[in-house]
Amino acid sequence: MAKDSSPSDEVVRVIRLRLKDKHAAILREKSFWANQVWNYCNELSYKVWQRERHFMSGFDFAKYTKGASKAGVPLHSQTIQAISEEFAVRRKQFKKVKLRWRVSKGSRRSLGWIPFKASALQYRNGQLKMSGIDAPLSLWDSYGLSQYALGAGSIAEDARGRWYINITVKVKKTVSTATKMIGIDLGLKEFAAFSDGKKEDCQQFYRLAEHRLAVAQRAKKKKLTRAIHAKIKNRRKDYQHKLSTALVEQSGAIFIGNVNASGLAKTTMAKSVLDAGWSQFRTMLNYKCIGAGVWFEEVNEAYSTQDCSVCKTRSGPKGLKDLGIREWTCKECGTHHDRDVNAARNILRRGRATLAVGIPVV
Ligand SMILES: [Zn+2]
Repeated sequence: MAKDSSPSDEVVRVIRLRLKDKHAAILREKSFWANQVWNYCNELSYKVWQRERHFMSGFDFAKYTKGASKAGVPLHSQTIQAISEEFAVRRKQFKKVKLRWRVSKGSRRSLGWIPFKASALQYRNGQLKMSGIDAPLSLWDSYGLSQYALGAGSIAEDARGRWYINITVKVKKTVSTATKMIGIDLGLKEFAAFSDGKKEDCQQFYRLAEHRLAVAQRAKKKKLTRAIHAKIKNRRKDYQHKLSTALVEQSGAIFIGNVNASGLAKTTMAKSVLDAGWSQFRTMLNYKCIGAGVWFEEVNEAYSTQDCSVCKTRSGPKGLKDLGIREWTCKECGTHHDRDVNAARNILRRGRATLAVGIPVV
């Protein structure tokens, strides 16, 4: 598919699909071997560095891992290559001489992971055939895989022991005809406020889940704690996917504030959870906008809660001590503001100013 179009017409996306549970045993076994290959690369790379003071590339590893499949490692040679290449990339990225070992057993067990190359994967009659795994993999195909050219990726386990396949696919870029521009203020109280006055709240769920999490942690119920973590993560992702897709469908340009939650939230737990959620949401919006031809920009949001979006006077609530003030009236022009919607309107205003050409302002 889409092989005749030029690369600039395409964007790369990752599709994530749940594999059926019946494959868990074989995937766990393959993951065990993937860990052995990873650890072998880790050790070898470290030894070479100690001896020769240089680092091995993915290509260098190939010499050493060649023939491992034939010598009894039950992984396809392409998978072994994908693991060593991934190791080389990660080592470089983290600027370390040695990475963490991948552990196959016990409480510090690494979640299962098996990378693969594009050539190792084939889609046939609703199932995936993976080189090195005998039985075809059944999955919940909510994307309609048959319409994509499948690229490289990985099979990965989540904290609840569910297995997913992440596949990169190339998608043809479309050009959005929507003209609405929207500013987004990510918040502590609600998830987001928009320049058109709407708000989105999903935090209710976390409060409930956080309570259950605290109870489980106090009772030292490890399995339950993991399950709740995974559930929060999945629910959040699902929610953000729906919200970002809807926004991208309606908009010609999207602007979002660049601030992280760390400076705002009070407890360490809340801020890390929020930070992760916010950056994930920004990333999603970004790639969906690219794919749909929608303008996307992160905007400096300093003073966005203090400036009046109507008359631009800095007359609003200030800093942390005024965080509790949800609504205010501008002293200068008398406009009554919702704190977060006003911030979203300022973000939109600043975003518009960054547009060099083109999108009509509505
Ligand atoms: Zn004003």
